[in-house]
Amino acid sequence: MTRAVLNILAAFILLLSRCCDANRKLLVFLIDGFRYDYMDDLQNLAGFREIVENGVKVDYITPDFPSLSYPNYYSLMTGRYCEVHQMTGNYMWDKDTMKEFLIGTNSDSRLPMWWDGSEPLWVTMQKLGKRVYMYYWPGCEVTILGVRPTFCEEYVYNPSEKNLTDSMESALNVLKSNKADMAGIYYEKIDVEGHHFGPRSPEIQRAIRSLDQAFQILNQKIKEKNMRDDINVVLFSDHGMTDLKWMEKVIELDKYIDMSHIIKMMDRGPVVSLWPKQDKFEEIYQNLSTVDNMNVYKKQEIPDRFHYKNGRFVSTLTLIAEPGWFITENKAKLPFWNNGTEEAGGWQHGWHGYDNEFMDMRGFFLAQGPDFKMNFRAGPIRTVDVYNVLCKTLGIEPLPNNGSIGVWMYVRIGQYMAEIQLFENLESEVLITHRAGFFS
Ligand SMILES: [Zn+2]
Repeated sequence: MTRAVLNILAAFILLLSRCCDANRKLLVFLIDGFRYDYMDDLQNLAGFREIVENGVKVDYITPDFPSLSYPNYYSLMTGRYCEVHQMTGNYMWDKDTMKEFLIGTNSDSRLPMWWDGSEPLWVTMQKLGKRVYMYYWPGCEVTILGVRPTFCEEYVYNPSEKNLTDSMESALNVLKSNKADMAGIYYEKIDVEGHHFGPRSPEIQRAIRSLDQAFQILNQKIKEKNMRDDINVVLFSDHGMTDLKWMEKVIELDKYIDMSHIIKMMDRGPVVSLWPKQDKFEEIYQNLSTVDNMNVYKKQEIPDRFHYKNGRFVSTLTLIAEPGWFITENKAKLPFWNNGTEEAGGWQHGWHGYDNEFMDMRGFFLAQGPDFKMNFRAGPIRTVDVYNVLCKTLGIEPLPNNGSIGVWMYVRIGQYMAEIQLFENLESEVLITHRAGFFS
């Protein structure tokens, strides 16, 4: 490349870095378990429809592996793979300290070791002297790398619709009055209903419609407060959901191995972490290798494409079920087995956590605001790509990450070949051609 071309490129990059008004505010929604196709019926979802027409919609977002909540919450906010940021499960165990990380509210889950493996966006913002308000966002209550957000409404199980709309009102007010530069709102109900009733149930349809009503209110409030030119709104989910067949597809480990030879077992479902006793390790591994509908991996055998095996808290054996299958010690020990009744609160009808390339695990991504194109349909992106988009709208320099800078930069400076090399799967070419500038 000649010096002249390099100079032109440099000028473009300089222009780009100045393109976005640093005072623009960002409102982010993390909608747990919202599958990419839940909004397909846009005709009947006026709130979603207005955002799509006013902004950017990608076909889907491929989650990080495992397609579980906490790993993806952190991938979204760091742009890094799980094995890089270290939040590798909803349930983790540290063999040195014997401490456990458990999804939800649990005091040991606030220990710095689970969180300090990477710096999430809100911590970077606070370090830069900016202010972040977070509502029910898991982890906002934790001191990470010595920092907490300016405001944190602590996570509670399944925040209500009123919690959601109250948070929206509060977030818009603090953004408008310059008390906050960024606000994040977490909503869990779509995930909860998806687990209980399944992704194709009337209950999930109802939950989607009521979320849509909340977004209609959001759109209305943004107009009323005259904030359309000042605020970018980005909405995404951590993963999707798939049907779980009642009683049919359960793998019971105690049928194959002696559970007394297992020092520790974490989680159940699509991905199970096992630490067998050392002298029984090979025997356990061999026995589990014969089990249908799941794979067992020694740590270094876990496929590279999962970007998982190098995680600090990854177990010595990892079991990964085929889609729709559920791994547990013994189904009678499941808290929700409920004596075989199929009522709500008993068996769960939806689950996630499987291979992140499995279609049903895909989530959604929408964005609207002054920095985004209008009525723009884009190809798929990955969870790790979101972070760069958020940094871009905030006008801050992203930390090193696994996302593509191409999400926002590639077309304008024409580094087509260079960008493609950042991706590993075939899907990427489609992604690149569609990516052509989210930003207006
Ligand atoms: Zn989730």
